[in-house]
Amino acid sequence: MSKATFAVSMIALGLGCSSAVIADTKVPVVTSFSVLGDLVQQVGGDHVAITNLVKANGDAHVYNPAPLDAKAIASAQLVVMNGLEFEGWMPRLLESSNFKGNKVLAADGIDTIKGHSCSCGGHGHHDDHDHDHDHDHDHDHDHDHGEFDPHSWHSIKNVKVYVKNIEQGLTKVDPTNADDYQRNAALYIQKLDKLDVKLHKKIALIPEGKRKVITPHAAFAYMARDYKIDFHAPQGTSTESEASAGDVAKIIKQIRSEGIKAVFVENISDNRLIEQISRETDAKIGGQLYSDALSEPTGPAPTYLKMMEYNVDTIVNALK
Ligand SMILES: [Zn+2]
Repeated sequence: MSKATFAVSMIALGLGCSSAVIADTKVPVVTSFSVLGDLVQQVGGDHVAITNLVKANGDAHVYNPAPLDAKAIASAQLVVMNGLEFEGWMPRLLESSNFKGNKVLAADGIDTIKGHSCSCGGHGHHDDHDHDHDHDHDHDHDHDHGEFDPHSWHSIKNVKVYVKNIEQGLTKVDPTNADDYQRNAALYIQKLDKLDVKLHKKIALIPEGKRKVITPHAAFAYMARDYKIDFHAPQGTSTESEASAGDVAKIIKQIRSEGIKAVFVENISDNRLIEQISRETDAKIGGQLYSDALSEPTGPAPTYLKMMEYNVDTIVNALK
């Protein structure tokens, strides 16, 4: 290589680098599903450019990643996912994208509920915290599929932990803006606390014994725990497993014997089963709940805060 060629290529390299830095100063973040897309936007504000994979009204249990998803992950500085094996397709996607950046498991450190693979009632029991900690480092591979119910965003208390995890993840990849992330997270947690108080008051309008709700899949055990609502579902905690005829018969029997007034459809599920259950009982369809995804921006649940309030309002209105 001649001296001249060397000098020219060094200049070209230098220019290439600096123009790239100036052109895009936002932190590229990939989120697995719409609820996390919103939470990262709340904490990251103007400093983040988010690519969200499973869109509004999408089902993250059974998602097929597209080639563009792998491309977004390959150029991301941070990937934020729920964890608790909610996104079963994510480990393979990260691997095939050769992702070497930072990863946040938003549900890390929350108060978990054990998972259900059947419709054995809507009551989650507390994780008694005595599971084998030797396996923690092999988290992705070593425990049974669906050991914990992954739908932990339906507890505002848990989402406060999500927000702290997201704040830490953003601070790690972009320490310059740490103060902004901290302030945004603190402000958002105040909003979460305020909403939690408000939702407790709304739920209190329905006597505890009457808070009985049927949904297609078992997505609301965390809401059940926080607000003392009795949720039942013919399908288990994942939409991958179909409800058996026995599960459906059990729910129908329960609706009749307990005089359950309302069944609900979901934004992400096949609702034919619920429609059938409604036809065979006196329970009316009380509305649509947003379980595993937000609505489109023009819908009633385009943000996490709006989703939580809409779900509670829908339940309270149907049970009044
Ligand atoms: Zn689900």
